[in-house]
Amino acid sequence: MIPQVLAFITTYRCNFSCDHCSVSAGPERREVLAAGVMQRVMVAAS
Ligand code: SF4
Repeated sequence: MIPQVLAFITTYRCNFSCDHCSVSAGPERREVLAAGVMQRVMVAAS
């Protein structure tokens, strides 16, 4: 199965802290998605 759409959440850092946020993003979050991980996912999905 070939994905039609591939989206990345590159960070959980956000200026807001919405109660409804599905990833619990906020200004205190520091996690980022490494470029190498994104590259491997894109290669695997292609
Ligand atoms: S929903 Fe989440 S990512 Fe979107 S603005 Fe609110 S805290 Fe930020």
